[in-house]
Amino acid sequence: MSGPDPAAAELTACRACPRLAAFLEATRARHPAYFCRPVPAFGDPAPRLLIVGLAPGLHGANRTGRPFTGDYAGELLYRTLYEFGYASAPASSAADDGLRLIGCRISNAVKCVPPANKPDNGEIRRCNAWLRAELAGLPADAALLALGQIAHRAVLMALDARAAAHPFAHGACHPVGGRRLYDSYHCSRYNTQTRRLTPDMFRAVFTRIRQEECTCPSSPSSSPAI
Ligand code: SF4
Repeated sequence: MSGPDPAAAELTACRACPRLAAFLEATRARHPAYFCRPVPAFGDPAPRLLIVGLAPGLHGANRTGRPFTGDYAGELLYRTLYEFGYASAPASSAADDGLRLIGCRISNAVKCVPPANKPDNGEIRRCNAWLRAELAGLPADAALLALGQIAHRAVLMALDARAAAHPFAHGACHPVGGRRLYDSYHCSRYNTQTRRLTPDMFRAVFTRIRQEECTCPSSPSSSPAI
């Protein structure tokens, strides 16, 4: 995204979650050069695809100030985005590395890094106001991709959809709120190293998204949920 973004400026000043604000302060004291603020979304302001992750990584997005940038979780994501024409480069190392997203935007369900990568339910609910605003600003035909169960549930909450009606399942596509919500296991180090999510599995999700960019699927796939 180019130029100052007023919404991003407002977001980075948010301190609505006391536990997360305290964790950011403590992290800043240990790592003065880190970004250590709520991390705004990154990419095309009018995307065809919004990707929603869980939360900034402690030494990734929380360090660099850009989602999935500078840590292991971003490696598979940006490589895959590049392969499918959504990114101008296959790797994302720093906020000033010149990488651009094309028709794609990346955000998180929770904008502040949580201790142990685990936001609590109150934090997820509170931060949902930001996600809700992001979804409301998307083009009408933009698709959504949730990385993992927490992101999936946060997107449903932001769309006022019932979670029970749309169970998470890797590879599924849920028609919800007039949009297509795709699910993938999160591209975390744990999931990729244990091969819960392989590059081919991730690629298959993006293949489907690309194939369906101009159409609306009517039913979810039958992949097993976790
Ligand atoms: S997690 Fe979200 S709501 Fe909570 S302080 Fe950070 S930006 Fe604000």
